[in-house]
Amino acid sequence: MSLPGWKQLPIGVVILNPGNSVEYKTGEWRTLRPEIDQEKCIRCRTCWTFCPEGAILEVSEPYKTKAGREFKLTYKVNYEHCKGCGICSNECPAKAIAMVEEVI
Ligand code: SF4
Ligand code: SF4
Repeated sequence: MSLPGWKQLPIGVVILNPGNSVEYKTGEWRTLRPEIDQEKCIRCRTCWTFCPEGAILEVSEPYKTKAGREFKLTYKVNYEHCKGCGICSNECPAKAIAMVEEVI
């Protein structure tokens, strides 16, 4: 993909096409990646609420813990857009999200 030169950018670098952020894979910036421990996750939705990238996915996928607790939802990370800021991990009340070194 060839990128535009600076002379081709709109004045003020304004965004002319709203909603185009999905085209930018901010996951490429990441040095740490969040990993959700489904056994610890209590499905509180806090990570989904706080993620500035909208990179936490709420998936209609049932999950049963080893202790027998059943959930109808599963929270997952969209690694194409997660930039590894760690906010989800910091806010998770169940300490279910570990930030681990990204290995490419
Ligand atoms: S904040 Fe933690 S406990 Fe709550 S849904 Fe996200 S991972 Fe699960
Ligand atoms: S690390 Fe940051 S960008 Fe990635 S899922 Fe968590 S809050 Fe969102």
